Amino acid sequence: MSVEPRCIACGAPRLDVLESAATCRACGRAFEVRGGIAILLDGRLNGEQSEQVEKWEVRHEGSEVDWDDRFDPSVTNLLTLRNRLFLDRLSLGPEEAVIEVGCSTGKNLRYLAWRTGIAGYGVDIALSPLVNAVEKSQARQRFFVADAERLPFEDGSFAGLVALDVLEHLSNAQGALCEWARVVRAGGLVALSVPVHEVFPTFAWWRRRLFPRHAAAVDASLGHQVSRFPRPHDVKSWMARVGLRPVFVEFRAALFEPLWDFVLLPAAVGLYTRLRSQPARAAPNGAGSGGESTGPDPVPGGRRRRLFERLAVRPGRVFGLPDRLLEALGRGSQIYVLARKG
Ligand SMILES: [Zn+2]
Repeated sequence: MSVEPRCIACGAPRLDVLESAATCRACGRAFEVRGGIAILLDGRLNGEQSEQVEKWEVRHEGSEVDWDDRFDPSVTNLLTLRNRLFLDRLSLGPEEAVIEVGCSTGKNLRYLAWRTGIAGYGVDIALSPLVNAVEKSQARQRFFVADAERLPFEDGSFAGLVALDVLEHLSNAQGALCEWARVVRAGGLVALSVPVHEVFPTFAWWRRRLFPRHAAAVDASLGHQVSRFPRPHDVKSWMARVGLRPVFVEFRAALFEPLWDFVLLPAAVGLYTRLRSQPARAAPNGAGSGGESTGPDPVPGGRRRRLFERLAVRPGRVFGLPDRLLEALGRGSQIYVLARKG
């Protein structure tokens, strides 16, 4: 199923997207197209949005690598693995249209396309990561610059919507949820994750108390306003208000996992990358470029990646068992909710 964007000015689904401009055949409004991506904004970004754009543009400037793949594009971390496990719950068929809001470089859409053959539509407020996404993605994926609270699509356009760690960046989370529910068809799925208000004894709780300055710096660099983090029941009640019924709720990143992902694993990866960058001392087991994974797995790396997973990522999963216990008790820094519309 193919979805066409609509004009953000008049709402007509009659937008001609050409190389240099996208023009509405109903109202005549022209939108800029840069790097093949239509910028479907009505020119009124608020101060906070401009700040976010600046942050993400700077982060992606000249970057060949997903910012999400912070360590090495051939390596997955626990957050990526857990996001993938969550996305696996989107039981959608091939050809179905899925929109990702705040898609950045399109990693999640590529994963979903690889796994189930969906047609992906990515929107983000910043252009540079989308240019990166277009370079990496396939024909069945399209990307637009748009406001998460004002999506350029008609009601019920999509079978699924994904928004991982986006809600906390928005000034009007409830308004955004309402907009997201609008573009999903009845019976469609919304998959979102959001950091939640910190509770004892989560990693985020400890970090904020033990290293308040560092925590504040990290929040500032990510554009997080901690006072805005919802409580888990907020997320559920906001969803209920716009007709989204949670069918799966999970807490994550309770204690050990963030420590592993953000402290121990980067240290291990730093060492690994340093060793690997010395050609004379390349890892004996599969340091070659090929590996056998030439398939469409969106995270390349072959044997080298599997070796790394065995040495670093799997122990992280085992040591993360206390997290599973806390998460079962409703403790975590992050909540994942899959909801059905209607
Ligand atoms: Zn128009």
